[in-house]
Amino acid sequence: MQQRIINPHDLAFQLFELHQTEDVLQYDRYADHSRDTLEAALDLALKVAAEEFAPHARLVDEEEPTFESGRVEMRPEVKKALDVLRETGLMAAGQDYELGGMQLPAVVAQMCVGLLKGANVGTQGYAGLTIAAANLILAHGSEEQKERYARPMLAGRFFGTMCLTEPHAGSSLGDLKTRAEPAGDGSYRLKGNKIFISAGDHELSENIVHMVLGRLPDAPAGVKGISLFLVPKILVNDDGSLGERNDVALAGLIHKMGYRGTTSTMLNFGEKNGAVGYLVGEPHKGLAAMFHMMNEARIGVGLGAVMLGYTGYLHALDYARDRKQGRPMGEKDPNTGQVPLTRHADIRRMLLTQKAYVEGGLSLCLEGARLVDEKKFAENEVDRKEAAGLLDLLTPLIKSWPSQFCLEANSLAIQVHGGYGYTREYPVEQFYRDNRLNPIHEGTHGIQGMDLLGRKVMQAEGQHYRALLKRIRRTIAEAQKVPPLADNANRLDKALAQLVEATDAINVVRATGATERALANASLYLEAFGHTVVGWLWLRQAQAALAGIENAGPQPEAFYRGKLRACDYFARYELPRVGSLAGLLAEVDTTALDMTESEF
Ligand SMILES: Cc1cc2nc3c(=O)[nH]c(=O)nc-3n(C[C@H](O)[C@H](O)[C@H](O)COP(=O)(O)OP(=O)(O)OC[C@H]3O[C@@H](n4cnc5c(N)ncnc54)[C@H](O)[C@@H]3O)c2cc1C
Repeated sequence: MQQRIINPHDLAFQLFELHQTEDVLQYDRYADHSRDTLEAALDLALKVAAEEFAPHARLVDEEEPTFESGRVEMRPEVKKALDVLRETGLMAAGQDYELGGMQLPAVVAQMCVGLLKGANVGTQGYAGLTIAAANLILAHGSEEQKERYARPMLAGRFFGTMCLTEPHAGSSLGDLKTRAEPAGDGSYRLKGNKIFISAGDHELSENIVHMVLGRLPDAPAGVKGISLFLVPKILVNDDGSLGERNDVALAGLIHKMGYRGTTSTMLNFGEKNGAVGYLVGEPHKGLAAMFHMMNEARIGVGLGAVMLGYTGYLHALDYARDRKQGRPMGEKDPNTGQVPLTRHADIRRMLLTQKAYVEGGLSLCLEGARLVDEKKFAENEVDRKEAAGLLDLLTPLIKSWPSQFCLEANSLAIQVHGGYGYTREYPVEQFYRDNRLNPIHEGTHGIQGMDLLGRKVMQAEGQHYRALLKRIRRTIAEAQKVPPLADNANRLDKALAQLVEATDAINVVRATGATERALANASLYLEAFGHTVVGWLWLRQAQAALAGIENAGPQPEAFYRGKLRACDYFARYELPRVGSLAGLLAEVDTTALDMTESEF
């Protein structure tokens, strides 16, 4: 089973040969860790993923949670798996020792989470949201809030949620209406309806801590008037014991295409006298606080998309090796035996595409996680600032590129299975349904495109964008000097030049004030930019693989050769997409924008 969550050679290669994870151990924070302790944590995560999470992934899809007499009922395996997660300490793997964590580097902690997501994304959702909500309290809450809520959350006693969305305010959070009135004792009373709240109700933990966006009575309109509140399902007394039930009601469950193991809830706050809530951070700065934590959460979304694509790829590979169908082209004798699917060129192409997407996506997410470590703990401020800027720039890509292309990998995994892939007898259809959420939640694909092109590329007067170009060009220059890599380096150089040309052309239009026109094709820009960055990471994978072959590295030679071929594939089949997208982008085409409603 473990072999079907991730290729262990790739896990070791990506962490220790490509991303040089051992280098982060030089930071004081990780002084107690060594390669051995990091590997032990990864082994533990893989074991829990394979033994506790994977076995009920199908069950929670078939028997999704139900709403019975005001309570949520679900399969008992979910609680058992989460209890094991808590007992192993993996729940808060990246947190401080003092908070009950393992103080693992972000790159390893994220990978541990990724392994759980690959095994069972629905069950992992409860733990993932809890850690995200606890991190929000740790970053912006008062000492009392940290002690009373974040600590039991990190210990797995309380779980957490993120309550942003309202029926009329999804992408447009500036329009949210939930109200918070001061109660006179420092607390607030909230009234409002939230929808699509993941893990919004269940019986898995002693309490649920909702992180809710709402408005104070004097709030300015729009995003500048949003504050963040902590609203427990059950009120917590001064001594930490549980008190009365708060005025938060589960109005119903939402039935979804995938991700069915995680409850999706409609929550009504304050149907009676108002839900008791506590302000977190400063008034009207709630959205900024929420988004501050989003960079790490979005690495989690991207990594979840990668891992669903990855497990789909491994299932497709196993199936293609086993299933015999047809004969090699040119073989006319019907008495010869049928050959495995892997013998057919089109199947190899589909498997190689999946490999290029999922292993490329994994390197992108780990690059982001590596920047989280650098931005927090690098020794000098210049390095910390550069890492923070690069992470800001890359975040929309880390969230969106895997959500698009690892979903496509899931579709190809179904295709490799033929008709069987379309049945519920094989898990690849569930991986596709589960992964289809990722371009939608945590900011849709369209919103990420506008974030990248409308904000991130121009941020700090383009400084982060230029820092990224410099890094990519440095890799290209190195690879151009190495004959086996030179052709791929030249292809990446060409794609990068096309992307830069498109960016410049868009910026000229933007400078005239025609913002709507400049951003009209932002989603396509996201795709072109993402392919260029993943092309860069594939070139770096090829550099590391070549070093592995030359120095008889720890992985089998066939593995390293597979990396070189996947880099060739990406450079030859995928990078040319950048050119066609960049051509359209450079013209700042308005065909779609110009289409009027009545013309559809
Ligand atoms: C399974 C699931 C789990 C979720 N979990 C949570 C959760 O835990 N907490 C939470 O708060 N929310 C959660 N959400 C809500 C999710 O974040 C929203 O669905 C998402 O933000 C989009 O909002 P919407 O559904 O209202 O779509 P809309 O905002 O109506 O968007 C519809 C389409 O229009 C596009 N669009 C919208 N505005 C613009 C614009 N200005 N320019 C261009 N295109 C635009 C979008 O990209 C999208 O394609 C979840 C959703 C799902 C399905």
